[in-house]
Amino acid sequence: RSDDRAVLRTDGVTKRFGGLTAVDDVNVTVNEGEIVGLIGPNGAGKSTLFNCITGTLQADEGSVYLQGQDVTGWPEYKIARAGLGRMFQETRIFGDMTVEKNLLLAAQEGGSEVSSLLRRPDESLQARAQELLEYVDLGGLAKTRAGRLSFGQQKLIEFAMELMAEPDVLLMDEPAGGINPSMLENLIEYIRTANEDEEATIFLIEHNMDFVMEIADRIYVLAHGERIAEGTPEEIQNDQRVLDAYLGR
Ligand code: ADP
Ligand code: MG
Repeated sequence: RSDDRAVLRTDGVTKRFGGLTAVDDVNVTVNEGEIVGLIGPNGAGKSTLFNCITGTLQADEGSVYLQGQDVTGWPEYKIARAGLGRMFQETRIFGDMTVEKNLLLAAQEGGSEVSSLLRRPDESLQARAQELLEYVDLGGLAKTRAGRLSFGQQKLIEFAMELMAEPDVLLMDEPAGGINPSMLENLIEYIRTANEDEEATIFLIEHNMDFVMEIADRIYVLAHGERIAEGTPEEIQNDQRVLDAYLGR
């Protein structure tokens, strides 16, 4: 694979907490248009690697590149502005605002002109908000107070909010967590559609194996902070090192 398509790349990222090496010399690459999974047993270092990429934590060693630009050591907000989106496990929706206003707020960077945006929203932004709501089958809820939606619906709204900002790559930490099993297939379809139509590039951590195997083009596996495997879902499912890591051997 050529590196020109690399939207995100880590080079030897290492993060220690006291005597524990939570992330150990990890290289990952996410290419434009891909859905890449990150899996591994509990405590493997997945969230810590994400935190090093987003600038939430500073890596002790190694570098992070976004669109080829070295963003190592940049503050979180600046990395976000440079094109890195992140969807959190806990929701950050304003419950008192309408769904649409939440999306309009998510579209804008830096927090300036918020009030004017809400008073006189840009028509093209409004159209985009509606389009994204329709992606997640919530087109009819634009004017509903976001706090009235179910947890699963709020997750979908949050996904739409992230897409509003048009990130170059979107990091998702366990998107399927807490989602009703009957909604999982829908979530897979929405993420897939966004990937295909919106050309959203996605890097996701997921516990649910069925989910990640179905959705990812490629998967990285961490265990004890180390990258122990990389490959297609099929390759990963048949990799003895991966099976051993999950069985704790
Ligand atoms: P995962 O997301 O794969 O479950 P984490 O990245 O959350 O794993 O954690 C990796 C390891 O680092 C674990 O042993 C965890 O206890 C430890 N760890 C994570 N964050 C901190 C922290 N802020 N301080 C100390 N240890 C941490
Ligand atoms: Mg985690």
